[in-house]
Amino acid sequence: MQLLMRNTIIVTVLAWFGLAPTHRAHAESNEKSAATQRGGSGRTAEIQLLRSVYKELVEINTTDSVGDNTRAAKAVAARLRAAGYPAKDVQVLVPPGAPKKGNLVARLRGKGERKPLLLLGHLDVVEAKRDDWQRDPFKLTEENDTFYARGATDDKAMVSALISNMILYKKEGFVPNRDLILALTADEEIIPSEHNGLEWLLKTHRNLIDAEYALNEGGGGTIDTNGKYVAHGIMVGERVYQSYRLEVTNPGGHSARPSKDNAIYHLAEGLARLGKFDFPFKLPEVTRLYFQRLSELESGQLAADMKGVIQNPPDQEAVARMTARPRFVGMIRTTCVATMLDGGHAANALPQRAGAIVNCRVLPGEPVEEVTRTLVRVLADDKIHVSPIGKPVLSPAPPLNPEILRAANDTTTAMWPGVPLVPFMAVWTTDARFLNNAGIPTYGLSGMFNDENSGAHGLDEHIPVKSLYEGQQFLYRVAKALSTSSRLGMSP
Ligand SMILES: [Zn+2]
Repeated sequence: MQLLMRNTIIVTVLAWFGLAPTHRAHAESNEKSAATQRGGSGRTAEIQLLRSVYKELVEINTTDSVGDNTRAAKAVAARLRAAGYPAKDVQVLVPPGAPKKGNLVARLRGKGERKPLLLLGHLDVVEAKRDDWQRDPFKLTEENDTFYARGATDDKAMVSALISNMILYKKEGFVPNRDLILALTADEEIIPSEHNGLEWLLKTHRNLIDAEYALNEGGGGTIDTNGKYVAHGIMVGERVYQSYRLEVTNPGGHSARPSKDNAIYHLAEGLARLGKFDFPFKLPEVTRLYFQRLSELESGQLAADMKGVIQNPPDQEAVARMTARPRFVGMIRTTCVATMLDGGHAANALPQRAGAIVNCRVLPGEPVEEVTRTLVRVLADDKIHVSPIGKPVLSPAPPLNPEILRAANDTTTAMWPGVPLVPFMAVWTTDARFLNNAGIPTYGLSGMFNDENSGAHGLDEHIPVKSLYEGQQFLYRVAKALSTSSRLGMSP
């Protein structure tokens, strides 16, 4: 039954990829009516609003060290109230004991015909040191048609688009067929965190954010080196995050009287074995679709390897080459990698302790306990004590929901003719895991295109100015399509 259903959905998805003329025609009319509706000067005002929200948010530092999420949440609340949202529908929720870890939840009331649609983003950003950056990371800089700042893409671009759209919907008197909920949360970037805003909201204010499904960060398009839009990704599922502490202890002693039984050597040899090991090859359904679609867009060896991996039985040489590519290995295997190391206490003493952190990313559906057992087996040394850090949050992959895929696909086609929408499983982790785990299927979708290295989490984070503007329009249309009563779900 489940298999049958899955096949039906996949056939449907592929039919869209094969292009369905009715949907396409409908999408074009959607584009026209949206443009007419808001007009040229209307668009200028929209962009002004978007830019001002974006600048304000980027310039409120929301790092863990010195930043303040509550300040950002309050700034958003003020804008929404000024746009006409009643106070009861705009809440800044601050967890007890963490005054700077505030979250915002706002609601645009609809007709109540369906369960709400949740629009999710995170307010916090990864640390950024001024000295390491070419430009001040907490000032919005516009250069070469590009915005630079910490959070320029992750996640203040999408967050600003969602806020602007909530304001636009209110101002134009849009009444959706269901409530639209905006949730902007703290501590997405910290794993594990005591103050993850979404996790806390689910535990303490579930009614405020309960929804049929959610749209979140994680999706987006890629721009190649020639500036061409390659594909638009919709994120459907992610791997499970689990770190481990490895530790070897030893009585130690004087370094002039060494023994072969050395804590550092035990640890190092175990890690070297882990470094050479590959977890079993697996092909999640969404990855199969992804490779199938992408192999038609790529060329040469990479395209051939994608085809080789999805054939039955898979071509083992293709699997080996895909495993060697950092961009793809996480789509076909669970991965565990050493990320931190410590040990010893004096240059002239035998180490009494040596430790490492191994960070694993587990494919959906693979039991984490099995990964723990494999890790112990591969380290192959009972002197190496392996303990999980925190509890994993499982993230069952959301279904390939035809309604969402259709709205995303039609809007993509209307805005960027010829650019395909491609579902993919993320190799990284987002707050979607909490929602998927809580039974609210969550999809990563942004309509924002960027180059392969956007600098997210790293240096000189950026996004093309045009991508921010387009993403806002894309999200405006998609959220509307998913909350209007038309059966096709596309009238703007
Ligand atoms: Zn993010």
